[in-house]
Amino acid sequence: MTDLLQYSIEGLQGLYRGHKASVREVMQSYLDSIARREPSIKAFLQVFGESALKEAAALDAKGFDGRSLYGVPMAIKDNLCTRGIPTTCASKILEGYRPPYNATVVDRLRAAGAVIIGKTNLDEFAMGSSCENSAYQITRNPWNEAYAPGGSSGGSAAAVAADMALASLGSDTGGSIRQPASLCGVVGLKGTYGRVSRYGLVAFASSLDQIGPFARDVRDCALLMEAIAGHDEHDATTIPEPSPDLHSALEKGFDGLRIAFPSDLGKWEMDASVKDIATRTIDDLARGSAPAAGVTLPGMEMSIATYYILANAEASSNLARYDGVKYGLRTSSKSLADMYDETRGAGFGEEVKRRILLGTYVLSSGYYDAYYAKAQQVKALICAQFEELFTKHDLILLPTSPTPAFKLGERLADPITMYLSDIFTTPANIAGLPAISVPAGLAPNGLPIGMQLIAGWGREAKLMRGAFGLERIYHFRERFVRVAGSEGGRDAGA
Ligand code: GLN
Repeated sequence: MTDLLQYSIEGLQGLYRGHKASVREVMQSYLDSIARREPSIKAFLQVFGESALKEAAALDAKGFDGRSLYGVPMAIKDNLCTRGIPTTCASKILEGYRPPYNATVVDRLRAAGAVIIGKTNLDEFAMGSSCENSAYQITRNPWNEAYAPGGSSGGSAAAVAADMALASLGSDTGGSIRQPASLCGVVGLKGTYGRVSRYGLVAFASSLDQIGPFARDVRDCALLMEAIAGHDEHDATTIPEPSPDLHSALEKGFDGLRIAFPSDLGKWEMDASVKDIATRTIDDLARGSAPAAGVTLPGMEMSIATYYILANAEASSNLARYDGVKYGLRTSSKSLADMYDETRGAGFGEEVKRRILLGTYVLSSGYYDAYYAKAQQVKALICAQFEELFTKHDLILLPTSPTPAFKLGERLADPITMYLSDIFTTPANIAGLPAISVPAGLAPNGLPIGMQLIAGWGREAKLMRGAFGLERIYHFRERFVRVAGSEGGRDAGA
């Protein structure tokens, strides 16, 4: 029996078209993989084995119909609303909450023929970089279970890296798709702000949040993005354009694209292994058809501070709705005011409370101008600098994360170090630009390292071509993910 876990989206569909495998068989292979890996990895908060098999059987009964995600087993982050199905955001405060509607992306995945096999773990309300802020469980990195998978979409990244789903969705407010993609050796994409509808994504920081895909390779990632992107009447901030074609021009790679890289990379604290891969990539590009030009990357000095002011301000306002009245948890308290306090006291975890406090502080009168208004000004400056840069260049190449995966527990006591994981990812959120992380190589300890590309506003097609170009430089899967032939299994490992 061929190992069904090794097929890409188009590969699987070739099997379906040729009647060489049924969706049910594929689904069963993924469920078996979950049975093997999930007990230690803990990527999922819920697995829908029965309904996935039922949906698979219904797809088989109709036969392959050419839809772009027909028969693709997918996992989604548990901050995406699913009608009638618990949606927790990995928070106690949403325990028991069943949304009355689906997120737009959930409807779009299903309309494209995907089967959702589970909902994945995250840092509570997507606040964190390690998945350790979940109120329910800690997810482990499939490459080495003593290490964090990254966050906040750590469950979605780990599920794909451990072959427990062919692809998944996460959300990225300051790096939460790209950073765990980098730490788990998979591709992670965040589109231009407004490219993908946020309707049904539980809000963390609405002006920064974007939903996007995790996949094993760039082509799969492009197909997923095409399926979920495009205007949505339920989200007034979506770009009023249909979903772009991202996959047909991929093969052009870097051809004709003008690449830039931050020439002051050495200034930023990062692991030697990350710096090494960045330098080697720049050398490779110089030898190839697309030499990269050194530039000053907008916002590097200010992005972390700006991000944590804006994100926490918005979070403090967005999370005000969890008061025990409308959603999930409610304590039995003596008075209404006590009920508000006690529900929020019992329902939110430490990190969420820290952010609500910080956010409320930067919005309070007397501090608003010094922090929030100032951060908005810096944001405008960063946007303008990016705009200027993208008149001369098409893509910016830089690391995704300053380090490979860190040990579980290592950064928990030190929020500042944890926040600094986002130094290379937050600029794209602040400026609303599309960005992708592509697995590039392994650190000496055998853990993956990703490199990032950022493109100009609305330029996902160029971004994906560049990502495909990088994939052809690194050959990460061919080199580091063992494919034991058609008879064997595929294990993540060097
Ligand atoms: N790690 C960042 C934070 O903690 C980003 C989170 C995200 O993108 N959701 O806020």
